[in-house]
Amino acid sequence: MRSFVFLLAVVLFMPAAQATDKLYASPPDQSIVKNEVGKYRHIVGLRPGREGGFRIEAETLSSQTVVHNYGHGGYGVTLSPGSAIEAISLVEDTFNDNTKVIVIGAGVNGLTIAYMLAQRNIEVEVLTKDTYPDIVSGVAAALWNPYDISASDEKSSQRLFKIQADSLDWFSGLVSEEAWGIRPVELFVPTNSLLVSEVHFFLPFEQTPVKWHKTLPIEGFTIGGYQASTFFIDTSMYVPRLMAALKDMQVPITKKEVESLSEFVKSIDEDVIVFNASGLGAKWLAADDAVYPIRGDLCVFDEQKISADLKNDYVLMWGERPDYMFTRVSNEQHTGQFIFGGVYEAGDGSTVIKTKYCDRTLNSYLEFIKMASKPKG
Ligand SMILES: Cc1cc2nc3c(=O)[nH]c(=O)nc-3n(C[C@H](O)[C@H](O)[C@H](O)COP(=O)(O)OP(=O)(O)OC[C@H]3O[C@@H](n4cnc5c(N)ncnc54)[C@H](O)[C@@H]3O)c2cc1C
Repeated sequence: MRSFVFLLAVVLFMPAAQATDKLYASPPDQSIVKNEVGKYRHIVGLRPGREGGFRIEAETLSSQTVVHNYGHGGYGVTLSPGSAIEAISLVEDTFNDNTKVIVIGAGVNGLTIAYMLAQRNIEVEVLTKDTYPDIVSGVAAALWNPYDISASDEKSSQRLFKIQADSLDWFSGLVSEEAWGIRPVELFVPTNSLLVSEVHFFLPFEQTPVKWHKTLPIEGFTIGGYQASTFFIDTSMYVPRLMAALKDMQVPITKKEVESLSEFVKSIDEDVIVFNASGLGAKWLAADDAVYPIRGDLCVFDEQKISADLKNDYVLMWGERPDYMFTRVSNEQHTGQFIFGGVYEAGDGSTVIKTKYCDRTLNSYLEFIKMASKPKG
């Protein structure tokens, strides 16, 4: 069924122009990885996984309307606008001039709902245990990557497709305003990546088809693979920007842990609508046993010299897991970050730094680079 969703997606978004043949600057000098292990920043986040997929659903609890929107796993940023649109649509018939809403959660999903409601002049308040950067939405890479999302039947496929398309529309509309941190990025998937069979499922951002290269257009590379245009939602910019926009619209974001949803709804006015966007917290808050953590680790090399040619960010994905490396070119002085990831440990709910994960990712990178590029000299 996944094939159906994505083939449809590709047909709708596919278009005409070809990806360019521009040569991309070589990936980071291996020495930063080899010699400076221990000098990277190690960041850990817990993705909110959910058996059976994310939950967007309205229910009545003690005569109060609660709309759930959580459990998006590794694609919560990618799908946040479309999910918010669907969650709001479940109750918008009841909106009137006096409607009041409380959103639980200030991750990308809760903030997006609050932002969309505030734009419609609905009175909103956000209650949250933690805020950016102490939430997984502040850790996410976050690549626009709807490729590993599946649907079990035709109806779910259509629903998923609408969420993806609405999200794509939303993010595309924000690209021109730099402050939102949404940047086009080229994705390179060499032939040894597990993703090769799936890469054509990417929704091409610039409406360019996925392109096959006998040799990837990266300086020094000898390996072939695919190139697709997608984009980053840089959460270190996007989440603070959403928070700032809410502040401008006088939407309060209050630090408060809601311990029990059933008790909470009894404590507020009956006509207040509650949105539950508590991510992994929904496991306890909504007593949802299907929710589980998926650990992810990023190894961040800050303030690295970046080749003058590397004006645009790009992502490389390789190997079985797959592992990935992406750049964040931050300023005119040709410095920026190289960020390595690929850890996807379902069921691991610990955020303790485990060096084995960055060791594994960085060693995998070194092996990949040895295999993918010409010997030097
Ligand atoms: C290494 C890594 C890489 C990733 N890469 C990508 C990517 O490339 N693309 C992508 O789309 N996604 C990616 N993700 C996944 C993405 O980060 C998540 O899916 C997304 O951030 C989930 O957002 P959320 O708002 O649902 O949850 P969260 O960000 O966890 O927000 C939940 C909010 O609810 C609050 N809360 C919880 N319980 C309570 C309570 N009881 N009372 C009050 N408040 C509560 C929390 O404090 C928090 O504010 C990645 C994640 C990791 C770790």
